[in-house]
Amino acid sequence: MKTYKIACIPGDGIGKEVIPAGQTVLEALAATQDAFRFEFTSYGWGGDWYGQHGEMMPADGLDSLRDKDAILFGSAGDPQIPDHVTLWGLRLKICQGFDQYANVRPTRILPGIDAPLKRCRPEDLDWVIVRENSEGEYAGVGGRAHQGHPIEVATDVSMMTRAGVERIMRYAFKLAQSRPRKLLTVVTKSNAQRHAMVMWDEIALQISREFPDVKWDKELVDAATARMVNRPASLDTLVATNLHADILSDLAAALAGSLGIAPTGNIDPERRYPSMFEPIHGSAFDIMGKGLANPVGTFWSCVMLLEHLGETQAARSLMAAVEQVTADPALHTGDLGGKATTVQVTDAVCGRIRGSGAGAKAA
Ligand code: NAD
Ligand code: MN
Repeated sequence: MKTYKIACIPGDGIGKEVIPAGQTVLEALAATQDAFRFEFTSYGWGGDWYGQHGEMMPADGLDSLRDKDAILFGSAGDPQIPDHVTLWGLRLKICQGFDQYANVRPTRILPGIDAPLKRCRPEDLDWVIVRENSEGEYAGVGGRAHQGHPIEVATDVSMMTRAGVERIMRYAFKLAQSRPRKLLTVVTKSNAQRHAMVMWDEIALQISREFPDVKWDKELVDAATARMVNRPASLDTLVATNLHADILSDLAAALAGSLGIAPTGNIDPERRYPSMFEPIHGSAFDIMGKGLANPVGTFWSCVMLLEHLGETQAARSLMAAVEQVTADPALHTGDLGGKATTVQVTDAVCGRIRGSGAGAKAA
């Protein structure tokens, strides 16, 4: 029997509620079969850690994650600490330290979810957004000078490298190729940003020649937002820069019904380091500690984690269990207009997993 070592980092706010829920569901899934099991290690990093130690995670924290097969992450964000400190001190430290350069965000309207677009049928919205996750607008390049004086200056420089753009384009084309429609939209802004984004376009064209069976088009990011709303079925796989995809994927999550459902993977495609899976929502200060958080975004992230481990059958079983639960409005949390609690949704998913005998348990 295989043992997968999983690092759990709940972080802050509702991360502390949804990550244990994710662990519960993965354990229930492992119990239905004999092919693999999980060994979880939890890390108490985040805002509380910062309060005690003055940093979001220990300086040598990455070393304790290095040998793990995957990381399950909750959220970084604490009302007492500036957001750029929590983000850079934990989540980005892991993403950048482990060069998880592809951020992958699938979006679908799950059964039972009342999505806001009037004319959009569930089959019209089936997207994967690939976000460049290592450079661009969030490279951290820039600085401030003359602080506090009238001539104060501040810059955030968007930095794009040929190697960085080539690898994300190749990943996106490959992912598009693996999906039935083989359709990629390259999101750009090369009309206004006339240096890096022009190189981005040139590299898209260059990489496209390696994938002659993939149909692709180009869309300016502002037009892409309108297209997502007006012609959702014309999109399948999208690739965009760090900032552009950050915004587009929150829009995608909202169009699919709720931020509480949406998953993401921070992937090192070369598998030099563990990849990290997380719901896209944040700490949700307004509902934290009340047991009201929707755990579905975390469960779907667990599905992506299983796919990354190559456990395709288990991934399918978990997704099926989640979809059976979302199909029942009595099991919707508050963000979906329901009254269910985190624990009720988690129990229901575990029940479906056991009920379907998700795997074939030998003996
Ligand atoms: P948020 O995602 O925390 O919350 C936005 C709204 O959506 C809130 O009303 C919240 O209650 C609701 N919501 C989010 N997830 C939900 C869930 N699972 N179930 C039910 N409702 C849910 O975004 P925000 O308010 O912009 O940010 C709060 C904090 O989280 C900030 O400190 C921010 O920096 C941080 N944050 C962290 C991450 C991350 O770690 N990946 C992502 C986004 C925000
Ligand atoms: Mn975001």
